[in-house]
Amino acid sequence: MPDHDFDYFVIGGGSAGVRSARIAAQHGARVGIAEERFWGGTCVNVGCVPKKLMVNASEYGAWAEDARGFGWDIEVKGHDWQKLAEGRDREVARLSGIYATLLKGAGVTSFDARATLLDAHTIAMGDQRVTADRILIATGGTASRLDIPGAELALISDDLFTLKALPKKVVVVGAGYIALEFACILRGLGAEVDVVYRAALPLRGFDVDIRGAIVEAMTAQGITMNPDAAPVRIGQAGDGVVLSLSNNFMREADAVFLCTGRSPNTKGLGLEEAGVAVNDQGAVIVDDDHRTSQANIYALGDVIDRLNLTPMATATGHALADTLFGNKPRRASYENVATAVFTTPPIATLGLTEAEAAERGPADIYVTRFTPMRHTISGRQGRKSLMKLVVCQRTRKVLGVHMLGEDAGEILQGIAIAVAMGATKEDFDRTIGIHPTAAEEFVTLR
Ligand code: FAD
Ligand code: NDP
Repeated sequence: MPDHDFDYFVIGGGSAGVRSARIAAQHGARVGIAEERFWGGTCVNVGCVPKKLMVNASEYGAWAEDARGFGWDIEVKGHDWQKLAEGRDREVARLSGIYATLLKGAGVTSFDARATLLDAHTIAMGDQRVTADRILIATGGTASRLDIPGAELALISDDLFTLKALPKKVVVVGAGYIALEFACILRGLGAEVDVVYRAALPLRGFDVDIRGAIVEAMTAQGITMNPDAAPVRIGQAGDGVVLSLSNNFMREADAVFLCTGRSPNTKGLGLEEAGVAVNDQGAVIVDDDHRTSQANIYALGDVIDRLNLTPMATATGHALADTLFGNKPRRASYENVATAVFTTPPIATLGLTEAEAAERGPADIYVTRFTPMRHTISGRQGRKSLMKLVVCQRTRKVLGVHMLGEDAGEILQGIAIAVAMGATKEDFDRTIGIHPTAAEEFVTLR
């Protein structure tokens, strides 16, 4: 084996790359990592973290109003966008700095540069060339713009975090995670919001009851949901924009957000030169060990477009480093991964939907719909919770858990452990609830 500059070189300093690089270095490997934009990647800089802070911000207005029902004499005079932006950006900068410091502390050599592959072992960063025995592609993804006339007039998700003020009237195109989260954030902060989507229900792939319930909840908070409508063209209209739809309707707004999916960052990366194959969508093709078509090159995280979530990126990055350099071969499981959509109220989901379970065999379904105790006094409409268990009739194992309601993400995380351990409905039933909580409904469903 020729002596390379590094044992392991990671392209991309996001959730996947930083974790893998750091753990590999802790196992004693000589590790290099290149990041072209921001340490910590999408999650820290333009994803989970700033998004969740804005979700938090968007909830306070309604909470302050709800407090009146409990006797508080609160007057909400308005919202200071600038103040929120400063707090958010300060936290993002702090976290991004921590990522860079962690790498340094672990002895990783970091490059603030765009990296491309010249061949299976050589990485170019500007004029600099380095070689590595093994390479990890962890370049993530980027919001994709629809190919419609005027698409360049629209905003994409990154733009939410640089806006100087809240747009008063917004159209959000799409009905996936980002579209629904952004619609609720913007509405909560006071904007008038339309969501335009091409299917009959939002959140394709989620359980049908959850998809219906989120439409109800978003409509109740004043968001206009426009199903069965695809965007056709965007034009300028004074200081704003106008969106033409496939159903011949038009929507004028101060801003249109295109939240119509993300594409893997593989263009111009030198994958062909390195012998790394991609699929039709440009995602790197890997086997179950995250090995690409080139034996010494691996890929994981959003660039493989499998389960585009931060904890999946870090878990697989960690497992790969343990396998390659820690003498601890292991895989992180893509099964039963719990996930949340941070709408208002939030959604959390785990395992099979009712429809998916039915395809595999008979399933018993347990559902409850109720008004959370807080809202019996606040009087706020559209905050009904929904909880659902999908249970295999033959084995009684819980196959799917779905919730829309306050704290859904916090509640599902613990339940995910039980499901990963193979819990049956009877295990749920013999668990004593914590009273009074919403979570206890999961152990009292009959
Ligand atoms: P990234 O974090 O995108 O990191 C890739 C890095 O590679 C980037 O920093 C990029 O600059 C760099 N790079 C690319 N090409 C090169 C190159 N040639 N040379 C050098 N560097 C390069 N997930 C959740 O689990 N929970 C959430 O709440 C959540 N919210 C989200 C909200 C939004 C708005 C978005 C967009 C995403 C959200 N996600 C969420 C998804 C999550 O952010 C991603 O799954 C995660 O960041 C993927 O990590 P990664 O390391 O694969 O890619
Ligand atoms: P999603 O895949 O979740 O949603 C994309 C949306 O765009 C869908 O509603 C889709 O409609 C629509 N769409 C796609 N193409 C078109 C088109 N040509 N015309 C009209 N509509 C179109 O992608 P997101 O960008 O929202 O999120 C990307 C990923 O990032 C998520 O899947 C998730 O893995 C991750 N993420 C996770 C979050 C979390 O954990 N809370 C938050 C944000 C992102 P249709 O369904 O009809 O195809």
